[in-house]
Parts: sequence; C-alpha cells; structure tokens
Amino acid sequence: MNDPTTTRPGAIVGIDLGTTNSLIAVADERGPRVIADEGGRVMVPSVVRYSVDAGGRAVVESVGDEAKRRAADAPERTVSSVKRIMGRSIKDAAGDLPFLPYRVVEGANRTARVEVPGVSGGPPAVVSPQEVSAAILREMKARAERALGRPVTRAVVTVPAYFDDAQRQATRDAGRLAGLEVVRIVNEPTAAALAYGLGLRAGGGATTIAVYDLGGGTFDVSVLRVTHAADAGGTDFFRVLATAGDTHLGGDDLDRALAAVFEREIAALPGVDAAAAASPAFRAALAREAERVKIELSESESASARVEAPGAGVYRRAVTRAEFETLIEPLIARTLACCERAVRDASLTAPVDAVVMVGGCTRVPLVRRRVGESFGVTPYTAIDPDRAVALGAAVQGAILSGGVKGTLLLDVIPLSLGIETAGGAVAKIIPRNAMVPARAREMFSTQADGQTAIKLHVLQGEREMVEDCRSLGVFHLRGLPPMPAGIPQVEVEFLVDANGVLNVSAHERRSGKRASLQVVPNHGLSRDEVDRIERDSYLHARDDMTRHRVVDLTVNSRLDLKWVGERLAKHRDRLDPADASCLDRGIAGLRSMVDAASADWRAVDPDAFHAAKESLDRAAVRLMEVSIAASLREDPPSPAG
Ligand code: AMP
Repeated sequence: MNDPTTTRPGAIVGIDLGTTNSLIAVADERGPRVIADEGGRVMVPSVVRYSVDAGGRAVVESVGDEAKRRAADAPERTVSSVKRIMGRSIKDAAGDLPFLPYRVVEGANRTARVEVPGVSGGPPAVVSPQEVSAAILREMKARAERALGRPVTRAVVTVPAYFDDAQRQATRDAGRLAGLEVVRIVNEPTAAALAYGLGLRAGGGATTIAVYDLGGGTFDVSVLRVTHAADAGGTDFFRVLATAGDTHLGGDDLDRALAAVFEREIAALPGVDAAAAASPAFRAALAREAERVKIELSESESASARVEAPGAGVYRRAVTRAEFETLIEPLIARTLACCERAVRDASLTAPVDAVVMVGGCTRVPLVRRRVGESFGVTPYTAIDPDRAVALGAAVQGAILSGGVKGTLLLDVIPLSLGIETAGGAVAKIIPRNAMVPARAREMFSTQADGQTAIKLHVLQGEREMVEDCRSLGVFHLRGLPPMPAGIPQVEVEFLVDANGVLNVSAHERRSGKRASLQVVPNHGLSRDEVDRIERDSYLHARDDMTRHRVVDLTVNSRLDLKWVGERLAKHRDRLDPADASCLDRGIAGLRSMVDAASADWRAVDPDAFHAAKESLDRAAVRLMEVSIAASLREDPPSPAG
C-alpha cells in the first residue's frame, strides 16, 4: 500500500510524557502534528485513578480527563504528577512528597512507590511510578492507533534535561510495560528546538539555543548547543550545556498570587463567613477563577473576576493587565535569575542565537517581554507552547525512521507569504523563492471611517484569493484613534529569519499602536504539498488574476462612489448642470458595475469596469476643485500657515 496521506507502518511517534499533561504526535508525509482524541482534545492529563481488587492488586479505573475530573472524590486513589517521583529514591523525592495528595512508600532498592488504599477495608496495593506512567503511555498509544488506523509500537519519549540515568531508565521501562519500544529518550528542550527546525539545517557551524519552559507547576531553562556537522552526513548534534530551574514554580503560583488578592478583599467584605472563606474548597475555587482571569489577560488588557463570596453575595473585581503584571513580576524575576545562571554555567562567549518558549505560561505577555529583554532576542512563540515538545519528539521519530526526508527546510521561502486585503484578496508581501532571511514592508490603511481596529490575516500560497490560500494566523491591531477611511498609515512588516520563523508586525504610524504575530510557515507542509499548491496556482493563474483585479476595482470604486456621492450632495448647486449630470451618469455606470461584480465577479469585464472607474474619476475633477474651494472658505488656513 502506498498511500501518502497515512503513516507508513512502523512510524515512530513522539510522546511528551509531562508532569501534568501528556501529548502524542507523529511526523509523516503530512508534516508534524499532534494527535487529538475523538473530541478534539490533544492533552491527556497525566492522571491515573486506581481501585484495588479483593486480592490487593491495583486496577486502573480511568486515565486522563476522566481520572482528573473525578479526582476530588478519591484523591488518595488518584495518582497525578507521578513524574516527580519517577526513578527516584524516597529520600531524593522527599521535597516533593508534601505536594502529592497520595501516599508514597519505600519499595525495593529504596525506590519511591505509590500506595493505593484498599477498598472497603481490604489491603492496600503498591504501584511503581513506572506502572503509573505505563498506564498513561498505553492511553496515548491507543489514541494514536485509533487515529492512524495501525499498530503503534515504537516511540520517542521526552524527559527533562536534568533527568539522571535512573529517571531515564524508569521512563524507558514505563514504555516497555505499555507495549512500546522507546527507541530514543530525548531531552525536552532538544525536542522543542527540533520542533522549530532549529539545528536541522545544512552547512557547518554551531547555534546556541535557550529553551525557557514555564508550565503549570515547574520551570526549567536549558542552554543547548547544536553543531551542524556537514561532513557527518549532515547530522546535527545537540548538547545540553547547562540547565537551571525551579521544580515548584509555575502557572499555579501566578494563580495563587492573584487569588491571594481576591482572598484578602473578600475577607474584608461586610458579613462574610470568615471560616468558609478560608476553607480549602473556597480557596481552590478562587484559584480556578484566578487562572481564568490570568488566561483572559493574555489576550485582553483587562478581565473581571466573579465569585460567590460566602455570606457576602457576589464578589466582582476588575483586573487590568498592568495590575496583574505588577503582581507576578517577582515570580518572573525568579525565572530570569535562573536564566542568568544557566547562561553563566554554559560559559557562552556570545549571546544565544535563539530562545524557544515552551509551557502554557509562556503565553503571558509579560513573560515573553521579560525573556526577550533578558536574552536580547525575540523569543520563538510560533508553535503552540503546549505542543512544541511532542512535535519535536515526533520529528526525532521521523528522523530515526528515515522518514524525515520529505520535510521542508527553509533556505528559500517555498510559498509566498501575504496578507488579506479588502474583498478577500491576498496581497503578497514576500514572494515565493525569496532567500531567507527575508524582510519586506507594505503600507495599508482602513476601509471605513472611524475604524479603530484592523484585522490582519496572514496567508501563505500562490493563489490570489484568501479562500485558496492557507491561513497562518490572524491578529488585530487595536486602539487606533478614529480617523477617516484611508488616513491611518499601517505599516505591515514580514520578517522570515534564518530558521524560517515568520514574524509579522503591524504599526500604525500616527498613533504608534503595534501588534505582532509569529508563525512557522512550513509547519505541516511536505514537499508534495508545496508542489501541488504551486501546480494549482499555474492552473488557476488567469482566473485568479482577473478575480483579484475585479475585487480591487470593486473595493476602490465603492470608496470613490462614497466620496463623490457625499460631495455631490453637498455642492451640486455650485456645479454646472452639465457637469452634475455627467457625474450622475458616471455614478450610475460605476454603481451598476460594482453591483454586478459583487453578485458574481465573472459577470463583469475588468477592462470595462476599469474604464467606468476612470470615467467617473475624470468627471469628478471639477467637483473636487469646488469642494476644496468650499472647504477653504469654511476653514481658512492660518496666516502663519
Ligand atoms: P503546561 O503545564 O505547559 O500545560 O502549562 C499549564 C499552565 O499554563 C497553567 O498554569 C495554565 O494556567 C497556563 N496557561 C495556559 N494557557 C494560558 C494562557 N493563554 N495564558 C496564560 N497562562 C496560560
């Protein structure tokens, strides 16, 4: 069977076996992608719920979402964060034990084991962290097999860079228990760098990369060196030069910082039931609300919290991004101190070349800003920070199975990059086959009077219309002061760096407002797909060009009609009747073209459309003079002028 759209037999999947969540990905001819379940969810909570049978054996009751959802009704039988004790002795894991809701006991060779209490007075069972991880891996394996329609037996599994041999061996054993051959254990930061294609480039030399990973409960930073050995068959060698971090610092701490503010204010409310307001259940609810607000503040400048305060009605509280940032600044500063330490330990002689962001918390704008300032480069954020590690593990799997040859390396830009303009057309900013790095700018403006936000839709492809191109992302430039249509000057800049990461930024010159987006344009595209897109563009070239032209003419004619219509209504009396009726005819002619084109672009001849627009423009010269003269009378220039 030779179906390029499915995985070949023996595909090696990539698994990010995380402390709180796990993901599985595959890189095949369709490019690297994470595998979702039937409900579209990609993250599997690393949580296993056990029961114990009459013989004292632990039985897996549920894994992932279901286990997490029901955790509260049997916390002592619900095993989460088992990665914290994986391959460790009970002595080494001592610092973590107070954070785990289940009992950890000593097993053979002083290793940490989980004790699951017996049901209805029966004996307890003991499970090893390897068995718990195996239950999670089995779930991931089954998910991949359902999605790919074939057995999955080999995997690349990631571990933190600081994992020692025993912890790595335990991870390997967990794979074996789950029926998976772990063909390679890869460091998480290396996987993240691979997801961005860093280090997969031809030519000699070395690159240094910092990987900043801020998750829910842990923080890690690693400094890697990638050596491109052109003479060793183009192999790249990743070496971890230094790591630093804090295994008890993460998004949960940001939530707690905000929740503490709510808690203080609620405690001071008149009539509040102080005991209930200090209960663990209420605190947990506050932390959940704080997390929701935190996530909203990654997108908006302000968000509001709303909680039922015991005995004191509904507590409502607006939180601005600035206020939140002040609150979390000390926590971020702690991560930056770790970054400095890692850079110092790595004994670098030059600044790092790239910074890769991993972990859900790196979506917090302040984190991005501070990390960028600290390293002096714009961090890579284009790949979903939750998925980067799994995607990189899949890329490593594809390399190991010899299947990565079809992956695109961006020495030239394989498909044009552009932006949506009015009417659904695409303005190409960087043409296909431009060498990387590449930079280009273009000016845009608004279509409507008083428009205070502009949507920027970034596209890739050779066709002329949005619907025929591939969408890379959308972002908004907001907060523009209201101005007449066409007056704002929005400079859009595309920059593709040497690693093929596209940074798009927009800047309105008068107001100084800025916004930006980062993407990896080649993600998920194979050589075949690029070839197909290119062939399609040749096939449709003539139609596409005509359509683009008609759309542009329609948009510009609407603006002309509006302008002429408004001024004619105001100044008809000042015009020669012959000029006025010439304008009426011009308006009617162009309007019928616009209406026909709006109904079906094929219905109009673009040359005739163009002629109608020109003819109205010519007829409007006198009107323009009259209107300028009138406005000078209304609003004469100052004598100092
Ligand atoms: P991870 O362990 O990498 O899955 O990261 C989970 C952490 O990321 C949690 O603390 C989440 O609250 C946080 N997180 C997820 N999405 C966002 C977001 N959009 N903005 C800020 N934090 C987020």
